[in-house]
Amino acid sequence: MRKFHPLVRYSRRIAAEDAQSETPLDIRTMLSTASKIGPADKVLAFNRSPEGSCCAERPSGIRIATDVCRARCYGWKTSEGRDGVLERAEKNDAIARRADFVRLIVGAIRHSGVHWLRVHDLGDFDTVEYIDAWYEIVSMLGDVHFWAYTRSWRDLDLLPALLRLASLPNLDLLFSWDRKTGTPPHITGIPWAWFADTDGDPPPERSSVVLRGTNERNREEDRRRKAARDRGEKLPPRVGRNVVPLKSINGSPVCPLETGMPVKDKHRDCITCQRCMPKARKRTSR
Ligand code: SF4
Repeated sequence: MRKFHPLVRYSRRIAAEDAQSETPLDIRTMLSTASKIGPADKVLAFNRSPEGSCCAERPSGIRIATDVCRARCYGWKTSEGRDGVLERAEKNDAIARRADFVRLIVGAIRHSGVHWLRVHDLGDFDTVEYIDAWYEIVSMLGDVHFWAYTRSWRDLDLLPALLRLASLPNLDLLFSWDRKTGTPPHITGIPWAWFADTDGDPPPERSSVVLRGTNERNREEDRRRKAARDRGEKLPPRVGRNVVPLKSINGSPVCPLETGMPVKDKHRDCITCQRCMPKARKRTSR
């Protein structure tokens, strides 16, 4: 009989109890997949809801999301059938508040067998306690590589905890910014990711990667994808989906999946590309 790690056993037991409760958090499915990051047997993501994290007003009075990212956030497109994504993320808000969050997610990651985890395909870090929980999780799973983009550098109450988290060797943390965020602090070892709303929206300072406001994030493309899902089809990333093919903006490289040009196999997903993950590249000697 297969012998599970004690935390896997714990996570499975709590998930089974949760499934029987009247208001289940669906602990079994707290880890999500996304085609951009890589195949589900290798990489998963843990999401938080926008309302519960990046779009919420912080005690310091700041809301770290800007009008630019809110306008493009796929998490808000509930009218196009994305409500399942939001519901899952809202349940994760509650899971993240549990006293046993670290044990639950470490058990779930171990049980899944993946060695890559994207922290927040949707959502962001919202409290010092939550960031410290990730510090524990990442420290406990030295053979898993984590990466996260954050705008929580804008919340000075959280910055020291973020820098501590970023010091871990198996996590790449990127400061995300756009024309409304202000300029992130220059910290050695923390790359910047610029969100270009349009191709006429270059980063004022060089960034390690530019993520474009692609057609794929627009409503027309959303509808095309929803129609395909309803037919039981899964659409691959759309080649040439950007209006103008573009490799870089103002000297900062565009994510290879968003250049609007044919995607080379070495860039087919995040865990293969690793442009946003200098520590991962070093670990795998690329
Ligand atoms: S540059 Fe590479 S690692 Fe970064 S988001 Fe694009 S595909 Fe993912």
